Amino acid sequence: MIPGPTPVPPEVLQALATPMINHRGPEYQALQHEVTENCKKVYQTENDVMIFPSAGTGGLECAVVNVLSPGDKILAISIGVFGDRFATIAEAFGADVDKLSFEWGKAADPAVVAEKLAANKYKAVLVTHNETSTGVTNDMPALAKVFKQYPDMLVLVDSISGLIALPLPTDELGFDVVVAGAQKAFMLPPGLAFLTVSKKAWEAHKTAKMPRFYWDFTKMAKSMEKDQTPFTPALPQLFGLRVSLRMILDEGIENVYARHRKLGSAVRASAKAMGLELFADPAHASNAVTSIRIPAGVSVKDFRNLLLTEYNVVAAGGQQKLKDEIFRIGHLGYCGEADIIAGVSAVERALNKLGFKIPGGTAVKAAQEVLETK
Ligand SMILES: *Cc1c(COP(=O)(O)O)cnc(C)c1O
Repeated sequence: MIPGPTPVPPEVLQALATPMINHRGPEYQALQHEVTENCKKVYQTENDVMIFPSAGTGGLECAVVNVLSPGDKILAISIGVFGDRFATIAEAFGADVDKLSFEWGKAADPAVVAEKLAANKYKAVLVTHNETSTGVTNDMPALAKVFKQYPDMLVLVDSISGLIALPLPTDELGFDVVVAGAQKAFMLPPGLAFLTVSKKAWEAHKTAKMPRFYWDFTKMAKSMEKDQTPFTPALPQLFGLRVSLRMILDEGIENVYARHRKLGSAVRASAKAMGLELFADPAHASNAVTSIRIPAGVSVKDFRNLLLTEYNVVAAGGQQKLKDEIFRIGHLGYCGEADIIAGVSAVERALNKLGFKIPGGTAVKAAQEVLETK
């Protein structure tokens, strides 16, 4: 139950074992065409969608180097580890980065962002949709409203752990590049990064001077005209993607969001019933991953070890300064009610063993009450 890599459905695992095909042959073109079109549906976009063999972070780098030049003044909004990383990538390529950080556990305040934008002229803004390290989801519609007052400014979004799990209508919100990754809500093993490219991003790309070779929108787009890629595509991943996208679209994207909302609120209700403190601001708690403070007197390390060895549940720890403070339960992608019941039960039993006493059945009862609601 870590927030990525997430579990992979058996149908997808089977597809991953498909024998290789000629990536320059007709079977391949049909494959690329289908997955690209279906990606547009989950992104709710008419913009180009590109798929690169890569970790999610490669997708973030790809976004930066294709639309920016060294010296460009940009605003990086950070609410945790991944917001910091996006800023660091832009710095590494010579952007003049103004970082606007918010307290970990909180979402970005649109009013503070608006002030910052009013006082400076930025070429682009970088923002995280769902901050996996803290379990906080930014209010993207509210931020989009602020960004729209600056029609020349590019908006680059890290939605690696958000897309598909949480609503993010790319075109409606006017986002120029939205990055996603395979191993979160796409229900795939790690190894693919996804990016949308708006018309405005294409315009910026024409004059963007950051160095790039592999990560090149132009090369990719030219190949995509023939449903091809400039370099060898990650065939097993694409076989898996074809199946996972069909599963997501069969369920219906709105139903997928609703499932995540329900699972998220079940985990939060359960944690509260156990007397645990939620780390994220309740107004912006993520429905993809829940961060929970470890009770006083219990070590995160011992707790996670016990979860694994006694209950066969893998939870994530905190990252960086939150290492000894929180643990995180992922509930995104191929995750259902049974996983939540098993997960919260294991949390309760492990904490009891470690001396944090919770009346038996508390966690499951609270989760079940939420799961029973419409
Ligand atoms: C997982 C994640 C990343 C990094 O993905 P990698 O595949 O590890 O590079 C970046 N941003 C967010 C929000 C994530 O959840």
